[in-house]
Amino acid sequence: MKKNIIVIGGGISGLTAAHKLSKDGHNVTLIEATSQLGGLGTYFNYEGKWIDKFYHCIMPSDEPLLNLIEQVGLKNQMYWRPTRMGFAVDGKRYAFNGPVDLLKFKPLKFTDRIRFGIASLLLRQLGKGLDLDNTRIEDWFIKLYGRDVWKKILEPLFRSKFGSHAGSLPALYIWERLGREKNKSTRGYINGGLKALIDAIEQNIENYGGKILLNTAVEKIDSTNGKMKISLANGEMLESDWVIATIPVPLIKKAVSGTSLENLSNLPELTYQGVVNALFFLKKPLDNFYWQPVVNSNTEFDGVVEMTELVKTEQYNGNYMVYTMKYCSKDSGLFKEDENAIAQRWKEQLKTLFADLNLKDDDFTEIKIFKAPFVEPVYPLGYSKLKPRMRTGNSNLLLATSAQVYPSITSWNSSVGLANKVVDYLYDLENGKT
Ligand SMILES: Cc1cc2nc3c(=O)[nH]c(=O)nc-3n(C[C@H](O)[C@H](O)[C@H](O)COP(=O)(O)OP(=O)(O)OC[C@H]3O[C@@H](n4cnc5c(N)ncnc54)[C@H](O)[C@@H]3O)c2cc1C
Repeated sequence: MKKNIIVIGGGISGLTAAHKLSKDGHNVTLIEATSQLGGLGTYFNYEGKWIDKFYHCIMPSDEPLLNLIEQVGLKNQMYWRPTRMGFAVDGKRYAFNGPVDLLKFKPLKFTDRIRFGIASLLLRQLGKGLDLDNTRIEDWFIKLYGRDVWKKILEPLFRSKFGSHAGSLPALYIWERLGREKNKSTRGYINGGLKALIDAIEQNIENYGGKILLNTAVEKIDSTNGKMKISLANGEMLESDWVIATIPVPLIKKAVSGTSLENLSNLPELTYQGVVNALFFLKKPLDNFYWQPVVNSNTEFDGVVEMTELVKTEQYNGNYMVYTMKYCSKDSGLFKEDENAIAQRWKEQLKTLFADLNLKDDDFTEIKIFKAPFVEPVYPLGYSKLKPRMRTGNSNLLLATSAQVYPSITSWNSSVGLANKVVDYLYDLENGKT
């Protein structure tokens, strides 16, 4: 039977859920607080070109995402390229793409290079059968790689994403993500950027009869007399049979606080990492590495992504596009700092890191700073058992937020997979199958 379903949040998770539900004939309303769909995949216009605010690529193993791309008619717009990785340590840059590069990787002692290679090769095997969800990554990796490799390379690498919590992350999270990322790998992108995909999904939702509300923030989610009630910031109230919330967990907690759902929700207190991300428009390329972590090199940013390794410069009016990023709390000094100040400082740091390229102010056409407050939770040990369930008690509030994709890495693919699963679960509940 046709159901009225409200989906909260217009990122890829909400878009996927709304697409599937409207395609299956339900009355769907997708509610997005900002003026754009896409969430962390949003974009901006620069001299007539649409550019992603945050670097994104697609992996060949991203099955649910690739299926969605096919369903909305963009399969022939996908393309793939081999990409390479670098590694900057102590201000020096190295290629990092396999055994030969590893043997030449001076930041590690020769014996550690061999140990690093062997342990990395065997890591998938070595993790099988262990309770990695309850094992600190620091404890496991020191055993496998030795203290020097941990201190010199691995800890700074994880610290760059999770700050001082790095060593305490569950080893399961790192072990799982090794399946997705490889040093030398094929990465994909879509002609027209993430905007092309977001637009195609939006168009499909509307063609199937779905409704999309932009600039509409949800304030409260409640349930009374068998109906879901949504209060909007503009004072309106909406009713539905089901609600699927895709927004970050702290915002869901806020929306159910003081309502009949508060006690049912039992959501964990999660600390999130946000991100500060700089986008440099350059007149020349850097190292021709798609991705280069930056460790102990007197920069505030912890990595460099050369997007034009994947996307032709024509997409960017002839500019070479370089993203640098720092994952940090939304309450940190950096996150709150003025964008121009960050742009100027990070430009000087980029010039110093690439001093051999002799970058001049003239080589920078433009610098943009983008920030996002909720990127990923800092996972506590045993998170598999703590992570939010799909259903809130026995209510009709379902959750499809990126805090639930663990131990998979947060990505468009994981969110698409989760949103599909949640919609299937809703159908099972409707059909009394669970
Ligand atoms: C720097 C960076 C690089 C990344 N690189 C990649 C990559 O290469 N490949 C990849 O696959 N993934 C990448 N990701 C991860 C990917 O972007 C996320 O995993 C994914 O976008 C999460 O989607 P989501 O829909 O779950 O959440 P979000 O994108 O966060 O969407 C949530 C939406 O809810 C809206 N919202 C919030 N509160 C309310 C409210 N009260 N009412 C209504 N709406 C509300 C928000 O405005 C937002 O649009 C990257 C992320 C970042 C930050």
